[in-house]
Amino acid sequence: MPAFSNPSEIARETLKQLTSRRMAPSPDNYQAIYNEIAGIHETPAAAFPERELKSLIAALPGASAAQQRLTRQLEQSLKAENWEDYRKILIDFITEHSTESAQNWGELIGEFLRQWEAKQSNLTPARKREALEHVLAGASKNSEILFARLQSLIKSWSQNSANVDELVMAGDATETLPEAPMPASTIAPVAAPATPSRASELLPELRELFAYTLEVAVITQLGDDPDLAAEARAIVVSVRGATTLQDMQEMLAAIKRLAFRLEFLAEDRNELRAGLIKLLQLMIENVSELVIDDQWLNGQLAMVSEIVARPMNVRAINDAEQHFKEVIFKQSQLKHSLVEAQEALKQMLAGFVDHLAEFADSTSEYHDKIEVCAAKISSAKDINQLEDVLAEVISETRIIQLNAQRSRDELRISRQRVDEADKRINELQIELHQASTLVRHDQLTGTLNRRGLDEIFENEVGRAQRRRSPLCVAMLDIDNFKKLNDTLGHDAGDAALIHLVSVIRDTLRPQDTLARFGGEEFVVLLPDTPIDDAKKALVRLQRELTKRYFLNDNEKILITFSAGISDFRSDDTQASVVKRADEAMYAAKKAGKNRVAVG
Ligand code: GH3
Ligand code: MG
Ligand code: MG
Repeated sequence: MPAFSNPSEIARETLKQLTSRRMAPSPDNYQAIYNEIAGIHETPAAAFPERELKSLIAALPGASAAQQRLTRQLEQSLKAENWEDYRKILIDFITEHSTESAQNWGELIGEFLRQWEAKQSNLTPARKREALEHVLAGASKNSEILFARLQSLIKSWSQNSANVDELVMAGDATETLPEAPMPASTIAPVAAPATPSRASELLPELRELFAYTLEVAVITQLGDDPDLAAEARAIVVSVRGATTLQDMQEMLAAIKRLAFRLEFLAEDRNELRAGLIKLLQLMIENVSELVIDDQWLNGQLAMVSEIVARPMNVRAINDAEQHFKEVIFKQSQLKHSLVEAQEALKQMLAGFVDHLAEFADSTSEYHDKIEVCAAKISSAKDINQLEDVLAEVISETRIIQLNAQRSRDELRISRQRVDEADKRINELQIELHQASTLVRHDQLTGTLNRRGLDEIFENEVGRAQRRRSPLCVAMLDIDNFKKLNDTLGHDAGDAALIHLVSVIRDTLRPQDTLARFGGEEFVVLLPDTPIDDAKKALVRLQRELTKRYFLNDNEKILITFSAGISDFRSDDTQASVVKRADEAMYAAKKAGKNRVAVG
């Protein structure tokens, strides 16, 4: 055989040889002849049979979690072209599963036969068969699921009082979870009564819990949708009373329908809520534009819009409502006084114009008459005639004098009325100021005032008692505030109070309530907070104040406070708990200030 060195010549010769030797042109034959011609004697390392192994993986069942895990492991070793791994994984899997299931199935079948033959007080053979058929129909393709279901079936038969419909439900429950069946290795031996299947045991509890949840959490929310509430109530009845498979199936369908409708309802409500908030924002914007020159109102409105802009909770909405009430109150007062003032002004102007017109009329009449008199005087022939004219002039002049006097008097009255209206406006402003101190918020800092605190306190105590949750009260007093006022001035003192409030608001939780108790004293209510946590919260606030200085004319001023905290106890009143917090605050002052004491 001539020697070939060129690969394409070797290839051509290989094809010739395959034909002349009448060999099938398979890749293996081609490779053998090629090697022979090229003089290659050593057998090349067998290629990793990727294609074949892949097709094996593709054919493996993947119904159970263990089988899916096996497929994943094999795919990894295939990717790494690691035959050793591949081999080991397969062998391990087969060893593990063959021994385990052989053991369990043996025991299971033994127990099954025992229970099948045993007499149960409330189970006829026909019902047993029906339950078995149901289990077999639902899980015949997956041995692990079948194992788990048969196990619960046997267990319920073994408990004489168990009823077959619960078993059916147990079967359905696992049926809805085909991707994660109970692994065989976790199944306890059937014969051991100490480890019954928890799943079927929990089912009646789960049913009751579901019915209860529907009653207390869903139906109570459906006050504005009686149809849906009735539908949910009907489901509660069917959840509690369903005994047959058909009942269960109908119940499931009804629950699905309800869930679907609830989803729509939730969407509608969210939309409504967003719409209402938008509307409120719009109203606030609008009102603040209308009262552009009223600082007090604008401050309140800014506060309301801030509350509305933050995530909503009941407390924030209550606050917004209260702020708004104050705004409405103040605005109605202002409007009233404004209308009065305008009315008075209008009347005065109208009267003034009337008088001017009258006066002008009477003076022009007077002029005309005087002119006539002047003509009479110049044409007077004797003293008698002159006397008559003179009498006429005197009479006309007296009339015009009286007119002028009347006008002057009436103008004076009008002026008096305007003065009175002005005085009334001032009185109203003072009243308004007094009224605003009676409302719930402190005007300087925007926190609740004492009156506001009283109201919130009652609510918080009620809430804490209902929920049996701890409520803490803290009393804060700024350290050396008098000195700050004396050195920097009262306005700087005011600004420092505002600064403190803003740091408290940012640092404490939204559900905590802040109220100005007195000059530089504040009370904080901390709902749902044990005393240790309350202390931590106040210490955190003190730390925050050392980071957020109060700036006065670009000078950094450190504000510190002393605080006393106490928890609300069953026999407490607002006064008694505040007193304890106050005493603790004094103890903190005594101990050197800038600290928190528990009372
Ligand atoms: P201590 O550390 O012991 O609390 O001393 P203090 O100076 O803070 O306490 P003190 O009670 O002697 O003084 C409180 C001062 O707070 C007196 C008052 O001038 C001032 N103050 C009270 N209300 C206001 C306010 O609304 N604005 C301003 N600027 N100062 C106020
Ligand atoms: Mg004080
Ligand atoms: Mg003080």
